[in-house]
Amino acid sequence: MRFEVTILGSNSATPLYGRNQTAQVLNCNDVLSLIDCGEGTQLQLQRFSFKANRIKYIFISHLHGDHYLGLVGLISSMHLNGRKEDLYVFGPAGLKEIIDLQLRYSETSLRYKLIFYPTNPTLSEQILEDNNLEVISFPLSHRIPCTGFLFKERQRLPRINKDVVEPLAIPNAYYSLLKKGIDYIDATGKVYKADQLTIPADAPRSYAFCSDTICTDSYWQYIADVDMLYHEATFLQDMVLRATETFHTTALQAAQTALNVGAKKLIIGHFSARYKDLLPMLQESKSVFDNTELAIEGKTFEIQ
Ligand SMILES: [Zn+2]
Ligand SMILES: [Zn+2]
Repeated sequence: MRFEVTILGSNSATPLYGRNQTAQVLNCNDVLSLIDCGEGTQLQLQRFSFKANRIKYIFISHLHGDHYLGLVGLISSMHLNGRKEDLYVFGPAGLKEIIDLQLRYSETSLRYKLIFYPTNPTLSEQILEDNNLEVISFPLSHRIPCTGFLFKERQRLPRINKDVVEPLAIPNAYYSLLKKGIDYIDATGKVYKADQLTIPADAPRSYAFCSDTICTDSYWQYIADVDMLYHEATFLQDMVLRATETFHTTALQAAQTALNVGAKKLIIGHFSARYKDLLPMLQESKSVFDNTELAIEGKTFEIQ
């Protein structure tokens, strides 16, 4: 099953050096979610060949402009492009008011249904569960209310072990029950154990998105042992005072977080406009957590 994230925007605050504000596309079994929606997101979607109308879910972390100012434009384009499917938007409560206000003053009545779910920045909660994906929001510590998101694949059923099952006289119709762990008993009363006829599914994979936040352990419990962690790394460690003042994280601190929560892989992004060259960011993070990569726009990371 596909479970991968593509970076659309990696800069903090303002677009610069060809880098855009925060946005990512998560593809889970060909269902697309957009995570944050900075100003240039529509053009970035086009640039990397994503059809906006394929996006089913949108998750907005907080209401600093670099994380959502592209949203109303995207919602409008979906309308103009004839979207019919429901769109689910998860974000801070105030976001609904912002969307409604803009649509009201442009006298736009959307052709599709926009279903809005307010996130709670004070506690962790499951905000979505569908056939493929479970999503949990959790509080981060930023200047304004902000949530991170944990995306977890749903546990799959075991697969039929064809080499073992096919030589046996087990009716095909019974395979789905074997997958559910129900043993097969034939006419003579012989029991065929389901766990000996199936191959367990892979463990569900997980992806955590943490932007923006000061360095603190208050949210570590929610992202323990995550397979891939995206963490903001706005500054280098020599700017740690500035990072603390502005409720942001340094590359070194992001790496320490990844190490402490037992993440398997770290992607750092949300780079300050003061850094044209990102190599020092990567080196600083790798000095603590070797399996780090930069959030380069257009790059797709498979969650493993
Ligand atoms: Zn930001
Ligand atoms: Zn922010």
